Parts: sequence; structure tokens; C-alpha cells
Amino acid sequence: MNADAQREAVYGAPPEMLAVRDDLTPMLSQYTDLCETHDDALVLFQVGDFYEAFCGAAETVARTCEVTLTKREDSTGTWPMAGIPIDNAAGYLERLLDAGYRVALADQVEDASEASGLVDRAVTQLITPGTVVDEELLEAGRATYLGAVAREGDTYGLAVVDVSTGECLVTGADRALALEELERLAPAELVVGPDCDLPSLSFAPMETPFDPDAFDAETARETLSAYAPRPDAVVESTAELRAVGALLAYAEYAQGDSRLEYVSRVTRFDPREFLQLDATAMRSLELFDSRGVSGGNTLYAVLDETACALGRRRLEAWLRRPLVDADAIDARLDAVGALADDALSRADLRDALSSVYDLERLVARIARERASARDLRSLQTTLDRIPEIRETLADVESGLLSDLRDSLDELEDVRDHIDRAIVADPPQEITEGGVIAAGYDDELDDLRGTAEDGREWVSKLEAREQERTGIDSLEVGYNQVHGYYIEVTNPNLDRVPDDYVRRQTLKNSERFYTPELKEREDEILRAADRADSLEYELFCNVRADVATESERIQAVADALADLDVLRTLADVAVANDYVRPEFHDGDASDSAFDAGIEIEAGRHPVVERAQDEFVPNPTSLPPGGVALITGPNMSGKSTYMRQVALVCILAQMGSFVPADAARLPIIDRVFTRVGASDDIAGGQSTFMREMSELTEILHNATDDSLVLLDEVGRGTSTTDGLAIARAATEFVHDEVGATTLFATHYHDLTDTADEREGVFNLHFTATQTDGDVTFLHSVAEGPSSSSYGVEVAHLAGVPSTVVERARTLVEAGERDTATDEQDATTDETATVADEASNAKTGQSAQDGPTDTEDGTLAAYVDGLENGHRPDDEDATDSAEAHATREVADQLREADLVETTPLEALNLLSELKRRLE
Ligand code: ADP
Ligand code: MG
Repeated sequence: MNADAQREAVYGAPPEMLAVRDDLTPMLSQYTDLCETHDDALVLFQVGDFYEAFCGAAETVARTCEVTLTKREDSTGTWPMAGIPIDNAAGYLERLLDAGYRVALADQVEDASEASGLVDRAVTQLITPGTVVDEELLEAGRATYLGAVAREGDTYGLAVVDVSTGECLVTGADRALALEELERLAPAELVVGPDCDLPSLSFAPMETPFDPDAFDAETARETLSAYAPRPDAVVESTAELRAVGALLAYAEYAQGDSRLEYVSRVTRFDPREFLQLDATAMRSLELFDSRGVSGGNTLYAVLDETACALGRRRLEAWLRRPLVDADAIDARLDAVGALADDALSRADLRDALSSVYDLERLVARIARERASARDLRSLQTTLDRIPEIRETLADVESGLLSDLRDSLDELEDVRDHIDRAIVADPPQEITEGGVIAAGYDDELDDLRGTAEDGREWVSKLEAREQERTGIDSLEVGYNQVHGYYIEVTNPNLDRVPDDYVRRQTLKNSERFYTPELKEREDEILRAADRADSLEYELFCNVRADVATESERIQAVADALADLDVLRTLADVAVANDYVRPEFHDGDASDSAFDAGIEIEAGRHPVVERAQDEFVPNPTSLPPGGVALITGPNMSGKSTYMRQVALVCILAQMGSFVPADAARLPIIDRVFTRVGASDDIAGGQSTFMREMSELTEILHNATDDSLVLLDEVGRGTSTTDGLAIARAATEFVHDEVGATTLFATHYHDLTDTADEREGVFNLHFTATQTDGDVTFLHSVAEGPSSSSYGVEVAHLAGVPSTVVERARTLVEAGERDTATDEQDATTDETATVADEASNAKTGQSAQDGPTDTEDGTLAAYVDGLENGHRPDDEDATDSAEAHATREVADQLREADLVETTPLEALNLLSELKRRLE
């Protein structure tokens, strides 16, 4: 049974209950009704202190939450039942969400003690991956988006809302760009509109079916109008309108609200206004998750010195979406620079920001009427820090920082109101009193006074009664059930006065009350009760008042978030010795894009932190230049390419960069393609995928793009792979004009540099020290020696006979290739291009020419097959011919793509042994 079918089985009313529907007990009949009206979720049904599920759903709950499966028996049958404690529900709900279930909480909506007969229940909340708002289920530093996709013709609309903060974004684009954006936002849950055919997505959101009518343009406009006075001013296409309308409708439905108060504004953005990083690039550059070269660390982890959750989420947003507007980037860099120069302000800011609460989520809770008195106090203590933060910024010279300073509204009115209304250290519960401060409300003060006087009277009662009765052991006490009492031990019972009324008999004593005590007690209870409900009412009013200021608070949260990121970037720059990047100045006449990437002593920001020593490397890439990077495995090619991209990304997000100096163009997109054998991350690293990603790049890159190709062509045979690599290089250079770094194991590719201006070679080498191979990790001009594998083997201490033999073989191979190439130079390019395009359309190259004029080893094999060994022309005896054939077979079977240089050498030495 697949996952969907499994879910179906626990959604809706249990068939076995429906079969006896008319006979069910009132409670179970209520359960089946709720299951039917909420048949898109697993219904958890409150019974006292537990949420219960029955029948199929019970089995699922028991299995997923690891709770006991029990039974409920009544006259109509025996029903499997499983429950989770309400007090402790968060952890269990999380498990259900993780297992892919939507959950509907059916709560008792009337007090069980007041209900006559069956307690009324209703679904109060739908809990889904995109709509969870419980603190415990949310990751503090991450945005959890609920998303919707809609389509109108060729335009796709995409909208997301973070229900915990109210951030709502909408965008629209063609299908490819919209999908990329979707991957970037990676909503936890996705509502998909009619006719949107989505491919499988890399982040596997929960796909939620929802009323298609909600996607209707008119309906959507209606929904949106509750959030934006002029809906059509917010969106730019019908697709966007449909998406955001349906999204909000679904969020309202899930939260059981008619309008989501915490969504203060809906913001449209255009992905083209940012440096575009698709999911593949973010993954292979290890911005957020790491499975490759960075040794478990990510760029985000290096940068995350944020002091508060607001900053943490904002940092993530900036890193996902670096800028392309030079002025905006410079404004950020100015701010980072100013803070980097001012250690004192930086430290003060950090200190102040570290006591800032998550205002965005606080505001959302306040607007949603879920905030406690503690939340309001948290808001107030955060606001308390604002004057100090403004003070810190007073002397820092940066336009952006002074703008931020100006938007830091101290919200004195809100602050003071909370301060006056709420006690200093309020309880978590808001219904049981002790929340509202003294002096805030006269009536409350009176009620409290009355209760207090009564308690005072009671507290003196003991001494008075002891004196009146002469019973020294007489005690006055209180218990929940019986209220106040006077307790007299059995030996003293004869001295009890007449006005004592017996209340309770214990083993060694009797408890009494007096009419006056009873009266006082009623008075105290009445006043206290009344005070509690008045307090609750007052609290709700304060909360509602604060909620009307949501937008102002939101603006402060916004500014604090930016501020925290800017100071974080300054901290990181100072701690790690980053420099301010420069951008080629975009005069009106010459475009900002028209000079290349110049980096002095660049470093990989993540790798340099993960190891003791890091070798800085320079980069000088003219616009549209293609650098072919060769060198042995582990010599530093991948690290080098990524560091160039990371420097560009950091710079455009407004960060300083790990280098001695950097002069950069503004790039519009970063593309990466990591060849199959290097792509540990994907899991589905098939050749097809490699090619479709290459297609993406070739179609979408512009001359302002930066392209990284790492070992492209590994997923197929050497011949095809080389052909594709060569064709792709030529295309990127001739047609696309993107600035490109291409790490390749195809040494044969390096001669492209001779044929094309703008294509050049770089290489990495290794040396030997004290008998160990050392990779210098230092980039140098020109191609690496073709036999670097053999050199490394030599360095690694492979016996010299083997190394020598290997050298001979390589040279022989090169001679052969040289001869082949002389015949084939003119039409080789054509052949190669044909094969590449065949591969791209998914056809095999079988109908083309067979691959003979190719890699050195293949040529060597051909030689062997014909009975020739390059270094032994007259080998004719039959035993040797047999051995030769065997060797040829074995060579043919060897998967060179998957073979490391060392394994290749082992193979060679084995083959050589056979021949001898
Ligand atoms: P390649 O792609 O050539 O196989 P990598 O780039 O994956 O090599 O680098 C292999 C390892 O070498 C990295 O994990 C890192 O530990 C180390 N390394 C790479 N570049 C440097 C450098 N510039 N300085 C120091 N160590 C480096
Ligand atoms: Mg590599």
C-alpha cells in the first residue's frame, strides 16, 4: 500500500462504525460525524484528558506514536482505541506530522461539568506541516511555509505564508522559474491548483487537496480583499491571484479563522530581482545542507552568529536570495563595514539583540489571541531594549543603519500599557488570576481587597477561637472540597462551643465551621471568582489593544532582523578576516556586468574553518571566460570552484568575503552541475539527470551567469562523456558566454584552450614530502600533466617497475591518439556534437559512427585485440595470444569511470603479470 492509500485508510469515518451507525452510542456517533465532515485528516477526539482515535486510525496512532492500542467496549461492539495525553500532545503530533498525516483536533467545546448529557465537540484546529503554530513544533530559526501553486495559461502563480509569523509572499513566472522558486522556498505543505502538473520536487512537501473553487479568480480576489484593500495592486497576474487567494482560504480553513489577523501584508516579489540560486546550486554549494566537500558544515552554519531568532530567519532569507542591485548591495556593505570598524557598538548590539524575543511570532500569537501574559511581558522587555539599540546606532556612519535606527519605533504607548497592566512575572495560565497588576483597574482592586480582607480575617481566626474555647491545639485550615474548617482533636471535643457546625469526621479529629466563617468564605470565593474572570477580561482587552498595533510591531521586528544580520556579517568578517568586495562600477555607459571575476588569495569559507590550514588561491576570470581545471583526485578542484561561487554569493548578499581582495561583476544566476560520481547528495544520480541539468544550464544561463561544471560526463562511457564535456564547453563558451569553471578528469579537454580564446587551463598538483603524497592545493596556470594519475601513484610509493610500465603505456596511448587526431581533426567536432545531441534527446549513439578515435586506453585495447602490443610488435606465440585476449577482455569490462588512478594501476599491474 502506498503512502497515500495508507492515509486514505485512516481518514474519514471508520466503515465498521458506519455499518452500525444507528446503534452507536451518542459519543461514537458524534465521532463518526466529525470524521465525515473532516475526511481529509486523522481526527483526534477529546475524551477528558486524552485525544482518542478509533478503529483504523487507532492502529495508526498506536504504531506511529508508540502508544498502547486498547479497546472501547459497548453494547454495539468492541472498538480499537488509542489515545495521546492532551497535556503532552506536541511530541505525538510531531510524529504524526512526520509520518505524513494531517490531524484534526476535535476538542470538547463545552465544559464537561456543565454539559447536560453529551459534551459538545468541534474541530478547532487542523494540524498540518504548513499550518503548525505550536511553539514546540516549530523550528525557531526556520521559516515554515505553507504554499499554493496555481496556473493560468503559461504563467504559474506561487504564494507562501509562514503561519507562525504572518509573512506572506506571492510571485509569478513561467513554469521553469516558478518551479525553481518553489524549490527555493520549499514549503512544508503545498496546495496545488487545478491543471498544475508539478514534477517530483526535491523537498517532498505534503500535497494537500483543497476545494478547487478557492482557486477561482473571483473567489480568490474576494479572499485576498480581506488582506489587501486593492487585491489587483498586489498581484501582477491572474495566476498569482489564484495562488494567493487559495492559499489564504486554505490557511483560514485550517486555523478555523475567518480572517488571519496576523497576516499584516501580502508582499509580491519578482525572482528576477535577486541572484537566482536553484535548488541544485544551493545543494552543491552546501549553503544549507551539507553532504559533500565541506565536511558536514554549511555556509549558513559559518555565518550564523545571529543573536536572535528574528536574525536567524532573516539571515537565511538573505542567503537564499542575494541581491543584484548594486546600490542595495553597497548599502549593506557600508553597514557591515561600519559595524566591522566598531567593535564596541557591535558588542553592545549583540548583547541587546540577544535578549530580543521572537517578535514576529509574538505578534502573530497576539493577533491570533493565543498570546499569554508572559508573551506580552516578553514583548515589553524587548521594547525596553530599543532605546539602547538606537543609542548604539547613533554614531555609526551608514545610511542603511540610520534608516534602520529611524524605523526602530520605541512603541512607548504599547510598552507602558503592558507595563502598567501586567504583573512583573505573570503565570503561564491566563484564566486563573494573578495576571493583572495592582492599580490597573479599580474594580479589580476592590474585589481583591474584599478577598484579601476575608483571608486576613480567617488567618486571625485560629488565635481568636483558641482563646475563646481554650483549646490550644485548635487549627483553622482549608481544603478544596470542603472549604474552610476549624479542626478539633477528639480529646477536646467536649469543649466545642454550640455555634460550631460539624462538617467532616476524621479518625482523630472533627472539622467544624461557624456560620460566620461560612459567610466569610462565600464572600472570599465570590470576590476571587469575580476577580479571576475580570482579570481574564482585562487581559483580553490589553491583548486586543496591542494587536491593533501589529503593523508597528512588525516594522520593528523587521528592522531588528536586518540589524542582527548586518552585525552578524560584521562579526563574521572580523572573526574570519574577510574583506569588502568591490563591484565593477556600472557607469551609465558601461554595464555593471562587463568585467570579470578578480579574487586575490580567495578561500573557501567553510573548508577553511574545518581544517587547520587552507591554501588561498587567486582567481582571474575574464567575462565569459572558461577555465578548465585539471589535476588528480583530492587536489582541490571542487573546493576551488565552489569558493569562487561562494565569494560571489556572499558579496551579493552584502557580506564581506574570504579573500585578500575581490573585484567582482554582478552575476544574475549561479548554476552548478556536479558529475554523477561526485554527486553523493542526489541519490538519484543517473546520467539522465546529469544531462537534464546540463540542458537547464545551457538553456537558461546568460552572459551574466556563473557556471560551475564539476566532472560533467562521468555518468557514461569515457567516449560519450568526453564528447559531451567537450561539446558543452564549446557551447557555453561560444553561445552562452557565461563565465565558467569546469573541473574535469578528461585531460583531453585541455586542448580546447588552444582552439578558443577565452578558454584557458588551470591545474592542481601534488608533491612528495617525507615519502607522503602532499597535495599543494595551489592553483597554477596551464593543464596538468596528462599522467598525473601515474605521478600520484609514484608519489604514493607504488613499486617503480609498475610506475615505469604505466608511464610507457600512457605515452603509447598518447602516440596513438595523436595519430588518430591527425586523421580526424576536421570532422571530429561534428561527430562529437552529434553524439552529444543524441544523448541529450535520450537516443543512444548507436546509429552513429562507433567510437574508435577516442581515449587512450580504448586505443590500447584495440591494439591488444589485433595481437599488437605497442611495445612488442612481434608477439605471435599462441599462449601469449590467449593471454592477450584475456587481458583485452578484462580491460574492456573495466569501468574506467568508476576507477580511481590507484585502482587503475593495480589493474594494470595485474594485467601485466598475466602477460608475463
Ligand atoms: P578534487 O575536487 O580535486 O578531488 P576537492 O576540492 O574535493 O578535490 O578537495 C579535496 C580535499 O582537499 C578537501 O576536502 C579539502 O580538505 C582539501 N583542500 C581542497 N582545497 C584546499 C586548499 N585550498 N587548502 C587546503 N586544503 C584544501
Ligand atoms: Mg572534485
